[in-house]
Amino acid sequence: MPSRKSPGHRPSHALVLFDIDGTLIRRAGPHHRQALVEAVRKVTGLESTTDSIPVQGMLDPDILTIMMKHAGARPGQIRSAMPELIRIAQNVYSRTCPDLQRKVCPGARRVLRALNRRGIPVGLVTGNLTRIAWKKMEQAGLRSYFRFGAFSETAKDRAGLVRRAIREARQEEWIDGSAKISLIGDHPNDIRAARAIGIRAIAVATGIETREVLEAEKPDLLLDDLRSLSLEELVGC
Ligand SMILES: [Mg+2]
Repeated sequence: MPSRKSPGHRPSHALVLFDIDGTLIRRAGPHHRQALVEAVRKVTGLESTTDSIPVQGMLDPDILTIMMKHAGARPGQIRSAMPELIRIAQNVYSRTCPDLQRKVCPGARRVLRALNRRGIPVGLVTGNLTRIAWKKMEQAGLRSYFRFGAFSETAKDRAGLVRRAIREARQEEWIDGSAKISLIGDHPNDIRAARAIGIRAIAVATGIETREVLEAEKPDLLLDDLRSLSLEELVGC
């Protein structure tokens, strides 16, 4: 794999990781859920739904597992179908994802632009499958801000995803050993994942959860939205 280091590269003293849904974009429509339902139908013939599943803050493969379970599938069947479910769900979403430029959360573009300008590496940590995540970023006009990401089919939980992202940033020497690392998300699961790894948890109340619910998880910082995030919070010591 070619090195992604630029000439004259110096490791950054900060890394910022972003959740997608409810954090960078919101009200993105039913297409993601529909892609999961369509994948289950195509691969197994089963009719399923996400209706009773609290999908916010969950990883796509876990959502697919519950959908299959509710539709009557056995654990063995779910396990063996999973690789194909993941492949088809991404194909369907890539085909059906709408334009998301107007779904970008307030302040998101400004923060990303400012981080890029300062040369601070920016990554995704999301419950979305890889190609679904990148498609959303592309359709929202945010793709170019991100250097890399950790996606739901590559770890068993969100903390595992955060760990992967940090490991990659260190291996690529994008960050130094004492870099200040923050995870920005809209759900208690984002805050808990940051806590589990020992990095900064920044919560934004732009998703489905209320300020009160987020506050109860004691994030390092709780914001109404990204407009009130100062770069010093992310970069400063
Ligand atoms: Mg979210």
